[in-house]
Amino acid sequence: MSSKQTKTDVILIGAGIMSATLGTLLKELVPDWKITVFEKLASAGEESSNEWNNAGTGHSALCELNYTVEKPDGSIDISKAVKINEQFQESRQFWSYLVNSNLIRNPEDFIRPLPHLSLVQGEKNVEFLKKRFEALSNNPLFHGMEFSEDPRKLAEWIPLIMNGRNDNEPIAATKIDTGTDVNFGALTRMLFDHLQRKNVEINYNHQVDDIKRTSDGSWDLKVRNVQSGLVEHHQAKFVFIGGGGGSLPLLQKSGIPEGKHIGGFPVSGLFMVCKNPEVVAQHHAKVYGKAKVGAPPMSVPHLDTRYIDGKKSLLFGPFAGFSPKFLKTGSMFDLLGSVKPDNVLTMLAAGAKNVPLTKYLIQQVMLSKEQRMEELREFIPNAKSEDWDIVVAGQRVQVIKDTAAGGKGTLQFGTEVICAADGSISALLGASPGASTAVSVMLDLLSRCFPQQIQEWEPKIKEMIPSYGVSLVKNPELIREIDVQTSRALGLSSELALV
Ligand SMILES: Cc1cc2nc3c(=O)[nH]c(=O)nc-3n(C[C@H](O)[C@H](O)[C@H](O)COP(=O)(O)OP(=O)(O)OC[C@H]3O[C@@H](n4cnc5c(N)ncnc54)[C@H](O)[C@@H]3O)c2cc1C
Repeated sequence: MSSKQTKTDVILIGAGIMSATLGTLLKELVPDWKITVFEKLASAGEESSNEWNNAGTGHSALCELNYTVEKPDGSIDISKAVKINEQFQESRQFWSYLVNSNLIRNPEDFIRPLPHLSLVQGEKNVEFLKKRFEALSNNPLFHGMEFSEDPRKLAEWIPLIMNGRNDNEPIAATKIDTGTDVNFGALTRMLFDHLQRKNVEINYNHQVDDIKRTSDGSWDLKVRNVQSGLVEHHQAKFVFIGGGGGSLPLLQKSGIPEGKHIGGFPVSGLFMVCKNPEVVAQHHAKVYGKAKVGAPPMSVPHLDTRYIDGKKSLLFGPFAGFSPKFLKTGSMFDLLGSVKPDNVLTMLAAGAKNVPLTKYLIQQVMLSKEQRMEELREFIPNAKSEDWDIVVAGQRVQVIKDTAAGGKGTLQFGTEVICAADGSISALLGASPGASTAVSVMLDLLSRCFPQQIQEWEPKIKEMIPSYGVSLVKNPELIREIDVQTSRALGLSSELALV
């Protein structure tokens, strides 16, 4: 049964952080455009963007070792770290603009200052960390980073991790106090509340089942009300597929050539959460270790202080695993259903190439709680099983595509924005560095989908994000200005205040 039919300027599919960010940017740039949102769940930020489904790290490469790789000559390549840090600075600026303009309030409900540490053990790893520290600490974006191999110093920084550690292996850490913990779920909900106040039509419990191009070049969406079963048709000139793991199937339905030969590889996640307040109180940092050999980069273990529901918590993980679902609320047939005639060879090649990874992920799924506790004890030697529970995290669907460098069926660990040649539809695939870079990724999307308007929008974008289009690393003065302004607006630790 088909009922309602509407026409609008923009449709955003999915109520996660990406649609929230794009909608908010568009409302500032073109307040008159009519925006409609369809979300299959009952509220915003319930999938990957939810605070319990991701690690809440404001990724700015302060502690994530996989963003700095050692080159064959032994030097450290920091280009990816610089890029991610610059992207996070754009997020900080946009969020500050929203707070300063009273469009969102109480930034402490979604962002808190938190030291970021990298911790390694073993001679080779200590050597690597030292070189990484030397490469980063002279860079103005990483100003204030400290390095120590002294267990007494480390005991000051991370008492819970150092207490009871009596092995004689070399150990070292870097620490920087300008890190953050971000509650992306809270931020997503705040942004959707703001959009609702700006008359954006938000339809929860509405699942987009199909997308077809119309004769006038716009898009027709077949939308099902999951409560009543009623099918509706909604048309828009521009569609953003922000369905998280659910984006790939919708991109495939759109039929655009740019969406062909792409597949998805779902990786599930688990966290361990501490339920003993005495243990929680002994830790105040995000501490990232090194990924195990054979482990994908998104399963780097870390022990994080988190602020969730206004309460301090302690989470460890994520333990990666394999599940064929594309969303936590998805179906066991998602992976199989995503295999199409145009991507079957890409998927088969990826399958053949990634046997060890798949084996690793399946082994991870099979781990018992006690085996997971053993991994946790590498961080907290005295961890007690009864203090920890397991929580299921979100799904990450990694992009598989054919690349010149990796060949057919290469697994990508980054974020990919796919746009139709005419810019009328765009999809976001992949999940890393994820929510932290939402502003930068959505600005990139705007410049690709709206090439006619972007120049006209530039002054407003620069008002919101002064570093837009500027290399921060080449402008230390601007870094300082942004640091002071965003720290003040968001209540964060300022690098300058710490010097
Ligand atoms: C374990 C884990 C740890 C992570 N850690 C971090 C971290 O520390 N820092 C960081 O920055 N990022 C992290 N990420 C990544 C980050 O969570 C994601 O990049 C981000 O939340 C993705 O946002 P999104 O809006 O694209 O997707 P989502 O938040 O998943 O939202 C997509 C929405 O679309 C809806 N939807 C899907 N299909 C349809 C449909 N057909 N019709 C209608 N609605 C639909 C879904 O219900 C969902 O609400 C992590 C992710 C995971 C899984």
